[in-house]
Amino acid sequence: MLKVGIIGWRGMVGSVLIQRMHEENDFESIDAHFFSTSQSGGKVRILNSQESTLLDAFDADELTKMDILLSCQGGDYTKRILHSLREKNWSGHWVDAASTLRMNSDAMIVLDPINKEAIDTAIARGNKNWVGGNCTVSLMLLAIHGLIKKDLVEWVSSMTYQAASGAGAQNMKELLIQMGELSGSLNNIKPDSSILDLDKEVQLMMKSERFTKKLFTAPLAGSLIPWIDEELENGQSREEWKGGVETNKILKSNGYKAFNVDGLCVRIGAMRSHSQALTIKLNKDFPIKEIEELIASANPWVHFVPNNKEKSIKNLSPAAVSGKLSISVGRVRKLNVGENLLSVFTVGDQLLWGAAEPVRRMLNILTNKKL
Ligand code: NAP
Repeated sequence: MLKVGIIGWRGMVGSVLIQRMHEENDFESIDAHFFSTSQSGGKVRILNSQESTLLDAFDADELTKMDILLSCQGGDYTKRILHSLREKNWSGHWVDAASTLRMNSDAMIVLDPINKEAIDTAIARGNKNWVGGNCTVSLMLLAIHGLIKKDLVEWVSSMTYQAASGAGAQNMKELLIQMGELSGSLNNIKPDSSILDLDKEVQLMMKSERFTKKLFTAPLAGSLIPWIDEELENGQSREEWKGGVETNKILKSNGYKAFNVDGLCVRIGAMRSHSQALTIKLNKDFPIKEIEELIASANPWVHFVPNNKEKSIKNLSPAAVSGKLSISVGRVRKLNVGENLLSVFTVGDQLLWGAAEPVRRMLNILTNKKL
């Protein structure tokens, strides 16, 4: 059995990864070892069969004993560790959820329903670095997979509504604390107070120094944040930049025609699952019925939602999709503002297909387990 070292297993992505690995009995086909940057030497029960002692995630001697290292720890850890392991001639596979390596020429962005052929070719060629794509990119590509296969897309504008958990476990907790503080601000309000009195208390709490915003730096509960990741010189956020470059790297890797992607990435107060309003410029006129069929039948994970009010409200929301592998795709209609413009709204669990699932499946590809 291949020795697999897992780093970052207690974070947001790592926790979901471990949950999925249990569900799919992945631990039965690997010899798993768990590393920590902060708790080495501690005991944890992650495997059902036995307690594990946490290994030091900065101990190169322990890390280089592994055939495969799977990291959900974050980009700073990847930057600090991987290079030194390669310098020690470690030739194992590095599978990563962080963005650090994604655009490197020696790393492949993995999303096997889209680029399995490219992955197989890269394995045969001796590639060793495998990285899951940006969450909104992977979810969008799976959502419009049917249009991509038919080569119908000229460009995409993606307006995102991204959940707090996209920023990690601690940020998700901060959103909950903010929610608690907002509702707590109403504790001393009389039951017959007017709505304006309630609103005033909430606004005062949101703007007060006591309001918790250490990580997000601004209120997210009851508000939104129109910027995700670093500021680039061209006015894009790094998250928006990733949308274009990563989409094209994935598509080109498997011989698909590239297309431009741009838009605005916005953090909202959802707990989990990212939503995206897509405007898609099609390269030719295509009947809406056929477009719907292409989208609905593209892969086993698309859950097509007919464009009506009842089904959209019921199925197209973070509350409806969180914890599910299926990606809801709906509000599909031709827009009235130009030729061949399509509107699509899609919601998917960014911790599953947006993060843990592509790297989990990559691990199975490397260990020859059936997908
Ligand atoms: P995270 O929740 O912040 O976890 C990262 C690490 O933080 C954990 O492995 C843990 O390391 C440490 N940590 C410290 N305090 C913690 C606490 N109270 N609870 C849990 N962990 C704690 O980060 P993440 O969201 O999983 O992201 C990991 C990587 O995946 C990042 O590079 C991110 O960009 C990428 N990614 C994230 C998402 C997403 O939706 N969140 C999607 C795609 C890609 P130790 O155990 O070693 O202390």
